[in-house]
Amino acid sequence: METGSAMANRTFMAIFAHPDDESFGTAGTFAALARAGARVVLVCATRGEAGEISDPALATPDTLGAVREQELRCSAQAIGADSPILLGYRDSGMAGTIENEHEDAFATLRPMP
Ligand SMILES: [Zn+2]
Repeated sequence: METGSAMANRTFMAIFAHPDDESFGTAGTFAALARAGARVVLVCATRGEAGEISDPALATPDTLGAVREQELRCSAQAIGADSPILLGYRDSGMAGTIENEHEDAFATLRPMP
């Protein structure tokens, strides 16, 4: 991997659907890039509002988006990335679920007539 000034002039951007996607498989690479001097930018389409809650002590369906956003912000800080950019779409959940029908869901976007 390049180090020093060569990495200082580079920006790496990754776009994910949900908070925590940045942690699966790519966090170590992005942390290494940041440590080598690169700018790392994480872009997240949603706040993961339709995700599963594995421990009810951590979130409720009403707070899940805020909790996951905060987790993403902590993850970005641990990686050494910029403050994450959230695009503000609502999580559309799994294919065929009622979450797909939410008016702010990415899955509901249609081409302009
Ligand atoms: Zn995901």
